[in-house]
Amino acid sequence: MWKTIGQDKAIALIEGSLKTDNLAHAYLFVGPEHIGKTTLALDLARAVNCQGENKPCTQCQSCTRISNGKHADIIMLSLDSPDIPGDDKERTKIGIKKIHYLQNSASLPPYEGKLKIFIIDDAEHLSNEAANCLLKTLEEPPPKVLILLLASDESQLLPTVVSRCQRLELTPASFTDIEEMLLHSVGIDKEKAKLLSRLSRGCPGWAIGTIANDDYLAERAEKLAQMSSLLSEDWGQRLLYISQLRPDRKSAEEQIRFWLDWWHDLMLAKCGCQQAIMNTDQMSTLKRWTQALSLFEIKDFIHVLKRSLAQIAVNANPRLILECLMLDMPIKPL
Ligand SMILES: [Zn+2]
Repeated sequence: MWKTIGQDKAIALIEGSLKTDNLAHAYLFVGPEHIGKTTLALDLARAVNCQGENKPCTQCQSCTRISNGKHADIIMLSLDSPDIPGDDKERTKIGIKKIHYLQNSASLPPYEGKLKIFIIDDAEHLSNEAANCLLKTLEEPPPKVLILLLASDESQLLPTVVSRCQRLELTPASFTDIEEMLLHSVGIDKEKAKLLSRLSRGCPGWAIGTIANDDYLAERAEKLAQMSSLLSEDWGQRLLYISQLRPDRKSAEEQIRFWLDWWHDLMLAKCGCQQAIMNTDQMSTLKRWTQALSLFEIKDFIHVLKRSLAQIAVNANPRLILECLMLDMPIKPL
């Protein structure tokens, strides 16, 4: 059983290669953070080394040892992986010492599995020296070795490294797939599963990581309440609110994206498309505001929010953009 959610195309391709004994020597999994690159890499490691019938069975000794991080032939390397003897202790790059370690280890046969599998997470952070060194291994792969590179930002990788790997792009999972996984595998309540699956933007790892993050959910609830109350505040109160926000570009961008999601939900609610709403715990507030705002006002302000994001992207003053937004937002006393 594959633990990966929503990557049917990638899994079908890997399964086909496994059946015909035609796996590539190296794969590159590309996709945003938390989309499931590590889960797919471990699934592939289980499938390759599984001793059961339906690979990966997740139950046999090999699958269990991989799931528990105990398998001697599955080696994880990343920015955060433990220090390797002689490593330069760099934490912003994956240095050459880690690749030398990989090469030494790859020259020895697997200890307990069919293949020795190296999983390099954050591969876009390989230093130039390390990437060039790895290239030699990718060009002349040792027998019984599989290398899996995981990257969120493929553009940072050496093109020669990319060209030596079979590239698989991971795409966002549907919210129904994530909701089902949260309900049946993780076992959280229906309302929370519904909300987290929609907030996850197709990234199952984000949804799982946020289950216990009460601070995130409390902060989000507070920001939503502020968003809603700003609609009935006058300009003075709105500008006072903006003066209390962090004035840097990244924070302003995050704030505007957060508002955009809420206004998008408002438009969906206004059009009677409730099933697509992201903030599923805000239904009553959204319903209240759809009665006070016209579809034209909602569409118009969504356009203003998008224009503001574009202006911030070309270095406009974030504080000024946020202040203008407050002046453009409709005022609706409730
Ligand atoms: Zn198994």
